[in-house]
Amino acid sequence: MGKCMIIGCGGVASVAIHKCCQNSEVFEGIMIASRTKSKCDALKEKLQPTTKTVIETAQVNADNVDELIALIESYKPDVVLNLALPYQDLTIMDACLATKTHYVDTANYEPLDTAKFEYKWQWAYREKFEKAGITALLGSGFDPGVTGVFSAYAMKHEFDEINYIDILDCNGGDHGYPFATNFNPEINIREVSAKGSYIEDGKWVETEPMEIKRVYNFKGVGEKDMYLLHHEELESLALNIRGIKRIRFFMTFGQSYLTHLKCLENVGMTSIEPIMYEGKEIVPLQFLKAVLPDPASLGPRTVGKTNIGCIFRGKKDGKDKNYYLYNICDHQECYKEVGSQAISYTTGVPAMIGAMMIMTGTWKKAGVYNIEEFDPDPFMEALNKWGLPWEEDFDPVLVD
Ligand code: NDP
Repeated sequence: MGKCMIIGCGGVASVAIHKCCQNSEVFEGIMIASRTKSKCDALKEKLQPTTKTVIETAQVNADNVDELIALIESYKPDVVLNLALPYQDLTIMDACLATKTHYVDTANYEPLDTAKFEYKWQWAYREKFEKAGITALLGSGFDPGVTGVFSAYAMKHEFDEINYIDILDCNGGDHGYPFATNFNPEINIREVSAKGSYIEDGKWVETEPMEIKRVYNFKGVGEKDMYLLHHEELESLALNIRGIKRIRFFMTFGQSYLTHLKCLENVGMTSIEPIMYEGKEIVPLQFLKAVLPDPASLGPRTVGKTNIGCIFRGKKDGKDKNYYLYNICDHQECYKEVGSQAISYTTGVPAMIGAMMIMTGTWKKAGVYNIEEFDPDPFMEALNKWGLPWEEDFDPVLVD
C-alpha cells in the first residue's frame, strides 16, 4: 500500500514500529528516523527478519526543518508519523507542508520554555494544509486519540447529544520502583505538576495541581485514587462533540508517586527554569530525567493492567442515558508481544492505526483535524483487530 516515515525511536515509536511490521500489507516500507540512529538500527535488526515491511533507518534532528525536508524528499513517504516529542510538532508540520506529505502525531505542540500545551499553534496551520491538499491528523495516541474516537463513536451511535464526559485514565501497573514515569519523564512531570482544569459551560475552570480527587473502582484493576488533570483533548472535544456542558479528565496515581513528586517539586527538581551548575546551564527537570529509570526499561518489570476510557452522559430519544467505553490492557501481555509496557502499547497501537487510516485513504480530508472529526467506525474496528479491544457498559458507576 505505501511508505511511512516514523520520527522518534522511543517507547511509543517502538510499539508503533512493531505494529507497522505486523501490518506489512499496508506498511510496505517504513523509515525510522530519530536523533540517535543506533536505536533505529537496533530495532531494524530485531524486526527485519520477522516482517515483509522493508525497514530503513536514518539520523535526523527534527528541530531542523531543512534536514527534515531533505530526508522526506529522499524517502518520499505517504505519511510522516511524528513520535518524537511535542516540541518537534511544528517543525515536522512545516516539513510536511513543504513536501506535501500527510502528517500524524500523538501529542499537541508545547513550547520548550512554557509548560502549556494547547492546540492553537497547530490549528493555525489549517488553511495551509487545506491549500496544500494534505491531512494533519492530531492526537492519534490513546488520550488524546482513542478517547476522541470513543467520543465520536458514542455521538454517532448512542446519543443525540452528549452533555458530560469524564475521561478516566487508570494505570494499575506496578514496576517495583518507588518513583518512575511510564512515558517520557519530562513530558509526564510537566503534565502532572501543572494546574488542573476542566471545561464547564464553555469555560475553563482552573484548579490547583491534584486538588480534585475521586476514588473509582476500575474493572480489571480495582479501586484507585484518581486526580483531575488538565488534558489536551478537553479543548477539542468541547468544540467537536454536540451538547457538551462539562468535560473532565482524571488520572490515577499511587501515594508513593505523589509523595516523591511533591518532594522533588519542593526542592526545585521539577523546574523548567534553567540554572547555572558548575559553569554550565542546566534545566533541573531535564537533569532529573537523566537520573530516572528510562520508561523503555520498565517493560519487563511492570505487572498489572491499565483501564482507560470515557463515561458519557447525555440524551437519546429524549431520555437520559449513560454509557462507558473503555479498554483494558495487560502490561505483561504487551511486553510479551512487543517488548514494551502497556502505556507505550496503548499509545503506539493507535498511532499505527491513525497512520493506516490516512495511508489507505479511509480518512481523507485536506486540512488539520483532531481525531474525533473523522468517522470513528473503521478506527474502532481496527482497535479490536490490532490489540486494543474495547468494552461497553450501559449502566456505569458515575463520578460525582
Ligand atoms: P521517548 O522520550 O521515549 O521518545 C522520544 C523519541 O524522540 C526518542 O527516540 C528521541 O530521541 C526522539 N527525539 C527527541 N527529540 C528529537 C529531535 N529533536 N530529533 C529527532 N528525534 C528526537 O518518548 P515517548 O515514546 O514516551 O513519547 C513519544 C510521544 O508520544 C511524546 O510526544 C509523548 O507526549 C506522546 N505520548 C502520547 C500519549 C497519548 O496517549 N496520546 C501517551 C504517551 C506519550 P533519543 O532516542 O535520541 O532520545
